Amino acid sequence: MWAKTRSPRLRASTIVSDHGLSLPDVSITESPSISSATRPAVRSSPALSPSRASDFKQCPLLYRFRAVDRIPEKSTKAQVKGTVVHAALEALYGMPTATRSFATAVDLVDPAWDRVVAESPELEELLAPEERASLLDQARELVHGYYEMEDPTRFDPESCEQRVEIELEDGTPLRGFIDRIDVAPNGMVRVVDYKTGKSPREFTEAKALFQMKFYALVIMRMRGIVPAQLKLMYLADKQSLTYTPDEGELQRFERMLSAIWKAILSAGETGDFQPKRTKLCSWCDHQALCPEFGGTPPAYPGWPAVSTR
Ligand code: SF4
Repeated sequence: MWAKTRSPRLRASTIVSDHGLSLPDVSITESPSISSATRPAVRSSPALSPSRASDFKQCPLLYRFRAVDRIPEKSTKAQVKGTVVHAALEALYGMPTATRSFATAVDLVDPAWDRVVAESPELEELLAPEERASLLDQARELVHGYYEMEDPTRFDPESCEQRVEIELEDGTPLRGFIDRIDVAPNGMVRVVDYKTGKSPREFTEAKALFQMKFYALVIMRMRGIVPAQLKLMYLADKQSLTYTPDEGELQRFERMLSAIWKAILSAGETGDFQPKRTKLCSWCDHQALCPEFGGTPPAYPGWPAVSTR
């Protein structure tokens, strides 16, 4: 079960979960990797990420458009804002602990925007100058929200924006980026994900839980321990959702991921990715190519030898 909390302002250094787990000051054991803003489009063999697995569950044809055809989609302003905030927070945790003041964090927003645009120059065109100023103001507001939830001068994460990649026993490849991993001195692990929208309604909550279980499973298979806590931080309304997974649940989740991957490979062999019309189609960029909306998909290019994540 999720537990929802409204975070107190500037919490103490010891972070206590719902079941009393203490995750006090921990040290960085590896350098934070590059931010989501500056993540390269990694080209490697196809793998399951939380997003791609969700895509296939939602609509196999949507999966094909994104993972096989790789048809570009326009970034939304909300996505760009989220990327900027993630990049600013990653930069913040790359700084010495004592220097992570709110003023410093706010000053990291503009350079974060510069890095995002350097990586994806087309984003410059997405926003008129006044829209960009407004978006960066909103990003600073989200950083403020973050400071109302945690005090980053009181602890060090083990890693930020960590790229993870594993292969399950049956060969199912999993890949993704974890926003933040905290490790307590007693070895307990917490997986943290920042959300720049408001706390979720039922559907998006299920999607968020799917993502967090995915990363909990990756940690369990990489480190041989079940993460003590999964935590989603909704910076806009300053609420946290925490979840405590158990091993049996993650094993069942693992079997589900394997089944999804098997279904993807099977569709990949034949090119038979069926459309699945739901109310989520309203947000799909590919209606013009979708038979459900009178469109025709492009000729199937075949299962990719390499893929972007
Ligand atoms: S419009 Fe709906 S059915 Fe068609 S590809 Fe997109 S999500 Fe799938």
